[in-house]
Amino acid sequence: MHVAYIGLGSNLDGPERRIEQALTALDDFPLTHLVKASPCYASAPVGPQDQPDFVNAVACISTCLSPLALLDQLQALEQAHRRRRLRHWGPRTLDLDLLTFDDLCLDLPRLKVPHPHMRERAFVLVPLADIAPDLIVAGTPLPHLLARVTDGRLRRLSPQR
Ligand code: ATP
Ligand code: CA
Ligand code: CA
Repeated sequence: MHVAYIGLGSNLDGPERRIEQALTALDDFPLTHLVKASPCYASAPVGPQDQPDFVNAVACISTCLSPLALLDQLQALEQAHRRRRLRHWGPRTLDLDLLTFDDLCLDLPRLKVPHPHMRERAFVLVPLADIAPDLIVAGTPLPHLLARVTDGRLRRLSPQR
């Protein structure tokens, strides 16, 4: 059994509802259970600013899937939300990033773990700290990573669950 953290994001067509649905869908992946989910946060978009704010959350799952099999499931779920890749860092119905997978470090064309940008993103680190305050990310304790980011435009949304 492996423990993985998933970053969820959406800024189109009912983002909070989509995040909630995606959390339920994670629990329905084969050989996988949803262990914990963070509250949702609203965050300013990365990259192009002419798009709605994002809603973000982080989930902890336990799984017997391999990292690539898990990525396949995540990408299939993105497709089920009719995600279209129109432009880099553009608006999307659902984005699912594999943040960490046990203590694994992977550098494959399709899959880099830990997620290469997670260390600089408050919208990942803050919800991650809500559910895993003592997590070590590739040798660095999460509180050290958190101390290096500013979360100026991150806003916790009232719980839906
Ligand atoms: P960012 O990676 O900066 O968050 P993004 O989420 O917009 O940007 P996508 O278009 O969703 O990027 O993904 C581009 C590719 O990244 C995917 O095709 C996928 O194979 C690859 N990828 C590499 N590492 C990961 C990872 N840890 N989690 C999800 N996708 C990954
Ligand atoms: Ca992403
Ligand atoms: Ca992604």
